[in-house]
Amino acid sequence: MNFKIIALSALSALCCISCTEKNNETYDADLNYTLLYIPEAQKVHVKLKYHPVQNDSTVLVYGNPMFGGQIDIFDGFQNAVSSAEMKVDKDNHLIIVYHQGDEAIELEYDIIDTQKEGPNVASEMFRPMIQQDYFFCHGMNLFLQPQVEREMTQSVRWQSLPNFPLLASFDPANRGDQVTIKTVEQSLMSIITGGKGFDIVEIPIGDTNNYLGFKPNGHPDVTTEKVKGYFETAYSAMCDFWQDPATRPFTLVIAPFQHTNHSMSGTALIDCFSSKYNPDTKILLTENNTHTLTHEIGHHWIGMKITLDERHQWFGEGFNDYLTYWLNTSKGFRSEQGFEEEFNKLFENYFGSEIRDTPNDSILTHFWEGGDYTWLPYWRGTIFAFCLDGLISHQSDGKQSLRDFMLTLKQKAEANGEGKPLSLETFIETLALFLPETEVNSLVHRHMIDGQPLRLDKVPLIPGCKITYENQLPHITITDPELFISHFK
Ligand SMILES: [Zn+2]
Repeated sequence: MNFKIIALSALSALCCISCTEKNNETYDADLNYTLLYIPEAQKVHVKLKYHPVQNDSTVLVYGNPMFGGQIDIFDGFQNAVSSAEMKVDKDNHLIIVYHQGDEAIELEYDIIDTQKEGPNVASEMFRPMIQQDYFFCHGMNLFLQPQVEREMTQSVRWQSLPNFPLLASFDPANRGDQVTIKTVEQSLMSIITGGKGFDIVEIPIGDTNNYLGFKPNGHPDVTTEKVKGYFETAYSAMCDFWQDPATRPFTLVIAPFQHTNHSMSGTALIDCFSSKYNPDTKILLTENNTHTLTHEIGHHWIGMKITLDERHQWFGEGFNDYLTYWLNTSKGFRSEQGFEEEFNKLFENYFGSEIRDTPNDSILTHFWEGGDYTWLPYWRGTIFAFCLDGLISHQSDGKQSLRDFMLTLKQKAEANGEGKPLSLETFIETLALFLPETEVNSLVHRHMIDGQPLRLDKVPLIPGCKITYENQLPHITITDPELFISHFK
């Protein structure tokens, strides 16, 4: 095949190459990728072959603006050529391939490392890094998303690998030497990484092998062994909490990143959390960093398996955050002083906020203003989950807790189809199995939908703590640490 490589720096371009493929060639999957690692040029050369499934043209998207740092991501998509007529629309992140009939299409392009040296904002941490001794790329920055109605599969084959082992969250047992076939969605919402000094550790939990990819920074307290201990304990605790035997492998990736003010930051992907930490870190597993990790891994359940629609972030973020406190306190990653401090900070932030009373349906319209609007659903949902925990515990004479409600909600989500959002009505109906039906509807509507703050000294609490009010501000004190922690066991 004689490819004429054309650099595409203009807004859009047309190019065409000759193709010798036969119409009847069969492929492994709907889309078939071959990847060549070319470290000296800091790029991966990508070859894609497929049979068209739509008439006239195929529209393919590169990058995902919903994820941070993706606005100019198209600068890293270069040298695209195709066996058919093709238009590259840089502004809209689109590649449009025009075809006739079902003749096989070949498309080639390079993914270039466009990472800049110097101070970085959090969202830039997740752009492709393609180096001699380190590779980091999210699937959405390597593969293309076809605009096709039906679910599609894709195969991935490495023609030339880097000289270090790779970890791909869509097929974490494979070091790149075998062909992988997964759905396009699984492949896009993934991380592929590896490097010199990057440890890949297999962690069996139940019948499933899970994976940790970790790059230590050389400080004696920041070791693979310690991170492995955290992941093993926290992930097992989550599987136990959710009575979920974890049938699919989960992958946790943690790597240091250049110069950043953030201690830890990451992105939840399918069956995976991809994160970066400050390379100057001396203690990695602080209470706050383990909170970030458990919260993000927690989205494997709340957010992936159990969701309300996106308007109800008080559930997706707030309930997930309360369960993060629950799990980290029960496993000793959060001390009772740490719980008190963080909850009292949460009360100050929420009850002291000028936008405290914003109705739920107005939060999204203010989302881009940032600040308190970003955090209001977290604060509101965490405090509500804490109150429901106390109410359910009180109602059942200590026999049940928020966990029983969450497990019932998980059953409803499974019956509804994984990832398909449950309605607010289902949330309320399920809660009414644990609390008086007459109270439940007004509790949810008054506090989560209309946005009125709860009066915390008017509700029964989980055992071992008390709330006092000073200047309209609640303050939590853990009065009996043993009793308090035993609630979460
Ligand atoms: Zn979250």
